[in-house]
Formats: sequence, structure tokens, C-alpha cells
Amino acid sequence: MTQIWIPLNDIPAEGKEITIDEQSIWLEPIAEFKLPYRVVDALSAVLHLLPQEDGCLVRGRITGSVAAPCDRCAEDAVITVKQKFAELLSMQEDLLEPGQDPAVRPAKDGQWLEIEISALLWEEFVISLPLKPLCNEECKGLCPQCGTDLNTGSCDCKDEELDPRLAVLQNLKINK
Ligand SMILES: [Zn+2]
Ligand SMILES: [Zn+2]
Repeated sequence: MTQIWIPLNDIPAEGKEITIDEQSIWLEPIAEFKLPYRVVDALSAVLHLLPQEDGCLVRGRITGSVAAPCDRCAEDAVITVKQKFAELLSMQEDLLEPGQDPAVRPAKDGQWLEIEISALLWEEFVISLPLKPLCNEECKGLCPQCGTDLNTGSCDCKDEELDPRLAVLQNLKINK
């Protein structure tokens, strides 16, 4: 997975803003985990880095847009990404979740620290996505019986969606 280490020796004590346009931060995990997302407008992050004694406070915003299959009709649902976050990256191992790689390490000669920001950016991107993307709030979805896309066509199936439990009762009646 892409890692982007940023040395903190260049960052003044009052902080500094940087822009990250490296698309592999998002494209690699999407491909690796075979996620159904497609980047429409390139994702970009603006980060404000504020060095701390044992790490860095990272405040940032991710913008861009991605398409995912609509939860109702499976057509493209375009999701505008606008995710704001603030995260303290620290050397303290006990702040790490199990299995999480440290995001802060001493640079090669040990004179300063460097921070890894691609894992944070990926995580914040995932958090920003809706669980059930919709192509349109009004999306009518697919007919549960014949699969016709009800946004573009109609079918002759009965309107009422039969509750499967009721269907069992109905069959019982017919069998009597
Ligand atoms: Zn839809
Ligand atoms: Zn139908």
C-alpha cells in the first residue's frame, strides 16, 4: 500500500499547509479490496500540519467525487466527498489500535520525526462515504419481482410488495 512519509523538519512551529494530490492513496486500496468505487473528480487533501513534541496534529479536508452503485437500482450514484477531520498522530504506541502501523517514526538520522498520512487519508475517505449510496433520493429502484428498472420503465407485476410471512399465510388459505 502507498505510504507517504512527510518529514517534520520542514514544518515551522506555527504549522504549515500542504496539498496532497497523490491518487494512489485512494486508487490502490480501491483496487486491492475490489471496492465498487470509481473516482470521478480527482480526490485531493489539504492538510494543516502542526508539529507536536512526539508527533503532529493533522487537520485536513478531503474533496473530490466518486461513483458507486446505487443501493436501489445499481446505476452510478455520484458521491461528493467533503470530509473534514483532525487527528493527532503520535509516537506513543499505546494510542495505536491493534494491528495499526505507527504513523510517526524518527527520520533516518534521528534528528526529527516524520509522519505517514496515506493511512489516515484512506480512513477518512472511507468514513465519509454513505452506507447506502443513492443515484437520486427519489430512485424507484428495481422491481423486486422481475428486476425492471422502475426509473426508466414499468412492468406488469403487482404493485404491492408481498411480505414473505404473509405469502405463507396466503398459501395456507389456498391449500385449505
Ligand atoms: Zn438508483
Ligand atoms: Zn416487475
